[in-house]
Amino acid sequence: HAIPTRHQVVGAATQRRYLNQFICKAPQSSIPQDVSPSSSPATLPRFRLAVKDNIATASSDLPTTCASRFLPSYKSPFEATIVTQLRARGATVVGKTNLDEFGMGSHSVHSAFGAVVNETDGNGQGDGPRLSAGGSSGGSAMAVAAGEADVALGTDTGGSVRLPAAYTGVVGFKPSYGMLSRHGVVPYANSLDTVGLLAPSAAAISDLVIGRRSNSKSSLWAEHDPKDPTSLLPAARERCAQHRRGYHEDRAEDWPSTLQGLTFGIPLEYNIEELDPCIRDAWAAAAALVRHELNARIVPVSLPSTRHALSAYYVIAPAEASSNLAKYDGVRYGRRANDDTSDSDAADGVLYAASRGQGFGEEVRRRILLGSYTLSSEAMDNYFIQAQRVRRLVRRDFDRVFALSNPLAPEEDRSFDLSDLPDHVVLEDKFGPSEVDFLLCPTAPTLPPRLEDVFQQKSPVDAYMNDVFTVPASLAGLPAISIPIEVSATSGNVSQQPSNNVAGMQLIGQYWDDARLLAVADRMA
Ligand code: GLN
Repeated sequence: HAIPTRHQVVGAATQRRYLNQFICKAPQSSIPQDVSPSSSPATLPRFRLAVKDNIATASSDLPTTCASRFLPSYKSPFEATIVTQLRARGATVVGKTNLDEFGMGSHSVHSAFGAVVNETDGNGQGDGPRLSAGGSSGGSAMAVAAGEADVALGTDTGGSVRLPAAYTGVVGFKPSYGMLSRHGVVPYANSLDTVGLLAPSAAAISDLVIGRRSNSKSSLWAEHDPKDPTSLLPAARERCAQHRRGYHEDRAEDWPSTLQGLTFGIPLEYNIEELDPCIRDAWAAAAALVRHELNARIVPVSLPSTRHALSAYYVIAPAEASSNLAKYDGVRYGRRANDDTSDSDAADGVLYAASRGQGFGEEVRRRILLGSYTLSSEAMDNYFIQAQRVRRLVRRDFDRVFALSNPLAPEEDRSFDLSDLPDHVVLEDKFGPSEVDFLLCPTAPTLPPRLEDVFQQKSPVDAYMNDVFTVPASLAGLPAISIPIEVSATSGNVSQQPSNNVAGMQLIGQYWDDARLLAVADRMA
């Protein structure tokens, strides 16, 4: 169960062929020839950045399509703050990457530009089955895995950076909610949306987000964006940082130079029946690695609301999506239905319905219908309101296991009344002591499935299942990272799946503990 080094991960990537990861590329002439992550440290390190196509770029060569037929050539009049921030730190945008339309999906197959393909050749002959690249930031993950970008931007609402990272053998980081600016990111579900980064190593991400010195004011984590109403205010950022510093000082830890002696929690509820045995083996190997390399303590913990998190997510995210996507009406934005609707038809809403019917793909229409239903007066109490309650319980579960308390958690969260829940939601109160620094669990229950099998899935719920380990951290707004762990071919539990022999392991931290999370992830690679 050796942990692959950065070199091995990149080496494995070059043996594979990747298709369809870019929607459009910047003209070669606009990319300076000396762009390389290893430029002289005296100058600003320059790097190639791939940008998920639901993040606005202002160059006329780079439209922002969200992989939707609704926005076939939309040119944003402004650039997303995160792109501007990264350009100021040496990035050159090399292209816009393919995704599930508006970020809705887990395999990057729901795209107007066709599916992203992770074509592995398990035997080195190039004739292996085509695998899922994960979604929805599958194109960004592939751009990094194939070496076409040094860093890629993705969005992570319920796992869309972490899952593709896991399926393609790269590192995928989802920051604390409100840390990185979302101005210029096309919203999917505002209360969950985050901008995430993908790279071959956690160190590359940490350099950008945290900076080389963790208190560096020029680091991305410190930058409030007044244009994003969910961007944490400077005072709140300072409070969160103080809170974390207080904790480290209490523990008299010489952080970050040492990360020895931390406690890692293994959430028992994540050991589900559907977990592929080879992923379970990789999980055990990862636990052994942190015990050995970081002198860490491993403890079992319980997050009892976990099994309700997926259902809550698939109520909340579509509800917010249905509201966000209402603006695509064929009048103000994007595609207008080109059938012969007369003006009076348009007044009756025919133009609106026809534009939406033609412009949105099947999965997006499903989410809109689902969201509109759960927000309707008939269903609101049973779905949307219950899902919000489960969300609070998920957050409370996390707060109960972490040693560091949540700097934003209001006291009332801890005294949540269980009797508020409907009878069929049974929660056992079996938390351990609050002693954990990080949670360690798989990113996905299986290795990447064959694309062929994804296309044949009978129910969309089969794809939703992939998000079972990623949505809890999203519901709670916590930082999480997926790192590649090699799956041993000699494991007694070799998977039946074709694979690139890399599984994603996830580390989840307390709110605003992103710097330590990235440092630990870096030490594991
Ligand atoms: N797969 C999840 C969904 O379809 C997550 C998507 C995301 O994080 N953007 O909603």
